Amino acid sequence: MEIFRTQSQIREWSRSRKRQGRKVGFVPTMGALHAGHASLLVRAAEVSDDVALSIYVNPTQFGPNEDFAKYPRTWESDLATAEKAGVKAVFAPGEGFYPEGYRTEVVVPGWNSVLEGEIRPGHFDGVTSVVTKLFLSVEPDCAVFGQKDAQQALLIRRMVRDLDFGLKLVVAPTVRESDGLAMSSRNRYLSDSDRRRALVLSRALNASVASWESGERVAGRILSKGLSELSADAPDSVDYFTLLDPDSLAVLDGDAQLAKPAIIVTAARYGATRLIDNAVLGDVWA
Ligand code: AMP
Repeated sequence: MEIFRTQSQIREWSRSRKRQGRKVGFVPTMGALHAGHASLLVRAAEVSDDVALSIYVNPTQFGPNEDFAKYPRTWESDLATAEKAGVKAVFAPGEGFYPEGYRTEVVVPGWNSVLEGEIRPGHFDGVTSVVTKLFLSVEPDCAVFGQKDAQQALLIRRMVRDLDFGLKLVVAPTVRESDGLAMSSRNRYLSDSDRRRALVLSRALNASVASWESGERVAGRILSKGLSELSADAPDSVDYFTLLDPDSLAVLDGDAQLAKPAIIVTAARYGATRLIDNAVLGDVWA
């Protein structure tokens, strides 16, 4: 496994792989790797020949009051996870990744200010810009993202189509702890009791999924099943629990009819820790 610090090094690695007729798969992360990230690496290995992983805690996607400084950094164990998953190249850009005077952004207007984007202004602009920089550095044939960050995956899918990045985007399912909690680098911030309370999120999503599976198609009714589960052990606060149209990013509620696949998305807080989770209704990623 090779480790690269600059764009030109990883680009050269990727181009030499491709000259040998090999397909390069790419998994971008901020490190603090867990089994969810490992599953993306496994998926990438299934759809490519050589997998590159990036580890970069991107400052431009954190708001001023967010956890950039204290975001977990676990370099040694990340490398062990990568090695075990058969990763060929790790791209961990250093200081020079954003050149002096950096100003350019890649944005998905309108979609960057819905739900997560409304609560975290500028977050998605940081994400789509850094992912563009990473794609231009790695030049992958395919890239794998997690459904865990569903809205992020939808924006990146839009961006890849709009700018014709010429790569295949794969969205892999959310990996959960055995009790249902979606794995997240931020779960480590939860106290034991909040960790237990947070199980209500997956239970609430499941209640809405069950309603949809039983044939219900009215958005408000599907949501009310989940919301009543959520109120049984309410988080400290709920930022949203709603349905999203994956093609338009329109929020669906009330009398809206679900005629095609949709995603139920939620974000909730336990003390200073904010968790997001979601569930798909139908084949959203086809
Ligand atoms: P991050 O945790 O922000 O570094 O995310 C890097 C990639 O891992 C993103 O594509 C996430 O959606 C994905 N990811 C994070 N948590 C999970 C999970 N529990 N299961 C599957 N993918 C995940």
